[in-house]
Amino acid sequence: MTSVPRVDLAPPDDGLEIAFAGRSNAGKSSAINAITAQKSLARTSKTPGRTQQLNFFKLDDQRRFVDLPGYGYAKVPIKVKRQWQQATEHYFRKRRSLCGIFLVMDIRHPLTDFDLQMVEWCQHCDLPLHIALTKADKLKFGASKNTLLQIQNSLKSIEVNASIQLFSSLKKVGIKEAHGILDEWFAFEKNH
Ligand code: GDP
Repeated sequence: MTSVPRVDLAPPDDGLEIAFAGRSNAGKSSAINAITAQKSLARTSKTPGRTQQLNFFKLDDQRRFVDLPGYGYAKVPIKVKRQWQQATEHYFRKRRSLCGIFLVMDIRHPLTDFDLQMVEWCQHCDLPLHIALTKADKLKFGASKNTLLQIQNSLKSIEVNASIQLFSSLKKVGIKEAHGILDEWFAFEKNH
C-alpha cells in the first residue's frame, strides 16, 4: 500500500492490522514471504529509504500487514535508534486497528535488547504477542526445542504472556502454526 515514516501518515486506522517486528537480519522478510507465499513481498520494504519506515501491505479491505523497521545489529547512530523507538512506540500506543505483534527472532540470538523492548511495549499496550524463532533449521531438532523451552521459561519469569513457535523460512517449518495465529487475530474462520 504505502511506506510512511510516522504513524500520523499511515492509512486510515480501521479494520485489522498485524505488525511484523524483528531486529534486522533476524529473518523477518523471509518469514513474511514464506507466510504469504510470495517471493519478494517484503523485499519492497528493504528498498533504500524504506528500511526506517512503516510498510503497509493490504490483504483485503479490512486487513493489513505492517512490516516494522528493525535497526541493524551493527552500530546504529543513537539518533536513528531514538527516532525508531519513538515512531514504533507511538504506533503501538495509538494504532487502534493493531491486533497483534508477530515478533521474529533468530533462534541463535534470541531475546536481544530489541526483542525485550518489543515485548515490553506489547505488555504495556496489552497487545497479543507471538514469537517465531526462525532459522530453526540451523540447529538440531533437540537443541531448537530446548531453546524454545528456555525462552518460554524466561518470558514466564518476567510474567510475559506470549505464544512461541519454531520457524524456518528455508525449510518451510511452522507456516501452518503461524497461519493459525494470524487467522485467529484476523478473526478468520478456522475451517477454511
Ligand atoms: P531481515 O533483515 O530480518 O528481513 O532478514 P532476511 O529475511 O533478509 O534474512 C537475513 C538472512 O538470513 C538472509 O541471508 C536469509 O537468507 C537468511 N535466512 C532467513 N530466514 C532463514 C531460515 O529460516 N533459515 C536459514 N538457514 N536462513 C534464513
